[in-house]
Amino acid sequence: MTIDNNQRLFERARTVIPGGVNSPVRAFKAVGGTPRFITRAQGAYFWDANDQRYIDYIGSWGPMILGHGHPAVVEAVQKAVTEGFSYGAPTEREIELAEAILALVPSMEMVRLVSSGTEAAMSALRLARGATGRKHIIKFEGCYHGHADALLVKAGSGLATFGHPTSGGVPPEAVQHTIVLEYNNVAQLEEAFALHGNDMACLMIEAIAGNMNFVRATPEFARRCRELCTQHGALLVFDEVMTGFRVGLHGAQGVLGITPDLTVLGKVIGGGMPLAAFGGPRAIMEQLAPIGAVYQAGTLSGNPVATACGLATLTEIAKPGFYEALSAKTRTLVEGLKSAADAEGVPFSVASEGGMFGFFLFDELPQNYATVMTTDNARFNTLFHGLLDRGVYIAPALYEAGFVSAAHSDADIAATIEAARQIFKTLAA
Ligand code: PLP
Repeated sequence: MTIDNNQRLFERARTVIPGGVNSPVRAFKAVGGTPRFITRAQGAYFWDANDQRYIDYIGSWGPMILGHGHPAVVEAVQKAVTEGFSYGAPTEREIELAEAILALVPSMEMVRLVSSGTEAAMSALRLARGATGRKHIIKFEGCYHGHADALLVKAGSGLATFGHPTSGGVPPEAVQHTIVLEYNNVAQLEEAFALHGNDMACLMIEAIAGNMNFVRATPEFARRCRELCTQHGALLVFDEVMTGFRVGLHGAQGVLGITPDLTVLGKVIGGGMPLAAFGGPRAIMEQLAPIGAVYQAGTLSGNPVATACGLATLTEIAKPGFYEALSAKTRTLVEGLKSAADAEGVPFSVASEGGMFGFFLFDELPQNYATVMTTDNARFNTLFHGLLDRGVYIAPALYEAGFVSAAHSDADIAATIEAARQIFKTLAA
């Protein structure tokens, strides 16, 4: 009998790491089975502990937009490593990365670098409260902004009421100022502002949501978010940790043509290293310490190796034609999947923007979290495991978006569609 090295590692991991993983979705809890333990990655592929190769549509949950091991990025990181890992003092490279980000995101006049999307969203929230002197915040069901207490919250019982904690360890008091609304529901949004607009610090949103699979804010909903914030003196915060430099060179704000007050970035700006950021107009950003009264700090913030990785990544994605090629590739994938599903009579809908995509096992694209969650788990799991068995790795949960990189070849896309076609036959039966 052959030894399953993934299983062996999973058992070992579970004795020393809670659930065997350092971030919950990696554990395959939603889909069942054994998580793959990855040993190496190159281009569009990674290999597990059994030396099985997978076409990777997770890309480290978004950052690996160039694919794994891009030569220019590897070279920049190798050089940076020889110069020292971390100084705890400022570097020129931090300025270069800040300048590169600001040049691509016109709504931002200043940026602060941090180490994770959670940290960036949490800091943006504190800054919004500090800058406005207000308490309340709006977030939307199905949007994820990292695991800061005030953002781990589900909707309250009534319309536009305050939420309840979704995690143990979060006291109700920590979420008592968080209002959770339904995504794309303009009436609820208007009601929340009518009731609480005077004390609203900010509205935080994934304007193209990637944490309930892939759901776009409708143009009207996005426009009303902007208008109501302006009208009530609240800050509009776009969480672009996932969409920033992923759906296009100017993020979801570029796609939607909406200018937020604050932007939260992560994932792609670090190219796979721990790096994230938040930024906005100078007048707001200068309320941060050491100039202003809003405290925020980090031992590893602006880390020299991470910034080298981020800068090299941004240099590559800013090259002419990058997003046109990436978008075309992603469209080929989702349209191919849709045709294959249609041919077998399997209800299926798809969406993509830039290098980010989603698909649903029903005909209509959903507009909110509740509809996404009506997906038949068993059918999704059949698709997930069928693809995995055929060497295609998609997110092990139906509420996650997928990511295509510049390294995915036409042959990879064709192989993925062919693998899905075989599974659609069983789903149709
Ligand atoms: N915001 C969004 C939109 C995200 O997708 C994520 C992570 O997936 C986060 C924030 C949190 O980022 P991190 O996992 O780096 O803390």
